Amino acid sequence: SENYSKIRFKAISANEGFARLCAAAFASQQDPTVEVISDIKTAVSEAVTNAVVHAYPDRTGEVEMTLLSDCGVLTIYIRDEGAGIADVEKAMQPFYTTSEGDERSGMGFTVMNTFMDSLTVTSKVGGGTTVMMKKVLTGKKR
Ligand code: ATP
Ligand code: MG
Repeated sequence: SENYSKIRFKAISANEGFARLCAAAFASQQDPTVEVISDIKTAVSEAVTNAVVHAYPDRTGEVEMTLLSDCGVLTIYIRDEGAGIADVEKAMQPFYTTSEGDERSGMGFTVMNTFMDSLTVTSKVGGGTTVMMKKVLTGKKR
């Protein structure tokens, strides 16, 4: 690939903004529009928030974000080694949430799908979850 970066961080909400800014800084090398950067930040926030909120119910684990840039396309992998998702297809439905109360709306995967060009979720119960998202970084100067 043209370029890549990998970061690993503690799965706590304080690192959501850090991950979002890392992704934006990496993508900025390809001179995308502010709208494209904003879409990437939104999607990364949702994926990292999911790892923080859902992956580690009884311990604090880690999240790994891999950023790949190739031929003007950004690919982002956000991976945890946590609880996993039993039924990924169901989890990705709008409004589906396993959280009780009204803090979660079940719209995270829907947001990722809307703001990115592709979204693939792979998961194993007890083994963790990997979210892969792609975005075309249509450069202003290219
Ligand atoms: P919202 O994102 O709107 O605050 P939510 O997180 O419940 O609510 P989604 O992000 O769409 O909604 O996720 C749907 C469900 O998928 C979650 O409720 C959770 O059960 C499961 N899930 C998502 N990401 C993970 C993860 N990394 N590890 C374990 N379970 C996950
Ligand atoms: Mg969510």
